[in-house]
Amino acid sequence: MPDGKTPDFLNLESFLSEEERQVRDTVARFVDERVLPIIAECFEHERFPMELVPQMAELGLFGPTFSDYGCAGLNEVAYGLIIQELERGDSGLRSFASVQSGLCMYPIHTYGSEEQKDRWLPLMARAKAIGCFGLTEPDGGSDPGSMKTFAQKRGGDWVINGAKMWITNGTLADVVVVWANTEGGIQGFLVEKGTPGYLTRDIAHKFSLRASVTSELFFDDCRLPDSSRLPHADGLEAPLSCLTQARYGIAWGAVGAATACYQAAMEFCRQRALFGTSLINKQHMQIRLADMVRRITSAQLLALQLGRLKDRGAVHPSQVSLAKWNNVRMALDIAREARDILGAGGISVECCPIRHMLNLESVVTYEGTETIHQLIVGREITGVGAF
Ligand SMILES: Cc1cc2nc3c(=O)[nH]c(=O)nc-3n(C[C@H](O)[C@H](O)[C@H](O)COP(=O)(O)OP(=O)(O)OC[C@H]3O[C@@H](n4cnc5c(N)ncnc54)[C@H](O)[C@@H]3O)c2cc1C
Repeated sequence: MPDGKTPDFLNLESFLSEEERQVRDTVARFVDERVLPIIAECFEHERFPMELVPQMAELGLFGPTFSDYGCAGLNEVAYGLIIQELERGDSGLRSFASVQSGLCMYPIHTYGSEEQKDRWLPLMARAKAIGCFGLTEPDGGSDPGSMKTFAQKRGGDWVINGAKMWITNGTLADVVVVWANTEGGIQGFLVEKGTPGYLTRDIAHKFSLRASVTSELFFDDCRLPDSSRLPHADGLEAPLSCLTQARYGIAWGAVGAATACYQAAMEFCRQRALFGTSLINKQHMQIRLADMVRRITSAQLLALQLGRLKDRGAVHPSQVSLAKWNNVRMALDIAREARDILGAGGISVECCPIRHMLNLESVVTYEGTETIHQLIVGREITGVGAF
C-alpha cells in the first residue's frame, strides 16, 4: 500500500465499479485543486466558500442519486464516495452538500407535489436555489417529536409560529423545508425566503464548522398557502427518513476527514527528525499510524457495505446509526491523535487535524448525537426503547 495516500489496506478499490472510481477521482481532484488551497482561510475567517458551489453543481454533486430533474442518476456508493472526498476537504463544505441533497432535495422528491418538484428540483440540482432543513428547535434537537413550532389551518392557508435553531445554510437558503406540529401531527412545509413572517439570523462565534453557515429561523404568523405543504409527508417518520439519508452520507464523510488527518500525521512523521532519526522509525509512532489505518479500514468496510445494502433498498435506519456512530467516533479520535502527533504545530489552522477535530465536534452532535445512535442500536437489539 503506498504510504501517505488514502489508506486502502483491504483493496476495497477492487470492489468499486469503473463509474464509482471515476466519480470519486473527479471529486478528489476538485477538492485538491479548489478546496484545499482556500479552506484554512475560510475556516479562520468564518466564511463559507460560496464561490465553489457553481462548480459543485456542474460536477453533478447535488441530488446525485436522482435520475430525473437534471440530476446525475448515480448509485448510493458513488454518492458516498462524493461525500467522502468533500469531507476530506472540510466538514463544512460537505454539510452544505448533505443539506442540499439529503435534507432538502430528498424530502421534496419523496414527499412533494409534482408542482413542488418541478419548481425546485431542477433549480436545486444546478444550485440556482439553495435549501435548508429546519427541524431542531432551541429547546432541544434530540427529541423532535416534542417540537413546539406549530402550523395552524386558517381557512385554506396555514399559519406557522415558532423558531428553529442550528440550521445549516439557513441565511443562504432560498427555501426551507420546515417541520411543524399541526392538529393532525407533524407536517413539512416549503417556506421561501422573503415570505412575510419568516426571518433568519446567523449564529456567530462558533469554534466548529466555521466554513459553514449556521442559522436561526423565526416564524411569526408566517402565512402559507396549502400548496406549500409537502402533501405526502405525514408524521415524524418523514423528517426521520431525511435524517437517515444525511446520516448515511456522514458515515462516508467521516472516512474522508480521518484520511486527511492520517495523511497529515504520516507526512509529519516522515519529515520530523528527533533523537537522531525520523519519527517514522519510532515503534510507538508506527503503532499509532497502524492503529489509524485499522480504524479507517473498519469504517470503510462499514460504509461500503451500508452503500451496497442501500443500493439494494435493504438498509435499516439502525444500521445507518451504527455506522454514523462508529465512523464519526473513529474520525474524531484520529483527528485528536493526529493533532497530538503534530506537536505544537498541530494547534495551527495551517495543519488540517485541528480544523477537522473541531468540525467533528459538530458532526458527532448533529444528525443525532452519539448517545441517540447508541440508543437506536440498543432499541434494535433489545426491542426496548430507552430514550
Ligand atoms: C453546526 C451544526 C449544524 C446543524 N445543522 C442542523 C440543520 O441543518 N437542521 C437541523 O434541524 N438541525 C441542525 N443541527 C442541530 C443538531 O441536529 C442538534 O444539535 C442535535 O440533534 C442535538 O440537539 P441539541 O443540540 O438540542 O442537544 P439536546 O437534544 O438538548 O441534547 C443534549 C445532550 O443530551 C443527550 N441526550 C439526549 N437524549 C438523551 C437520552 N435519552 N438519554 C441520555 N442522554 C440524552 C445528548 O446526547 C446530548 O449530549 C445542527 C447542529 C450543529 C452543531
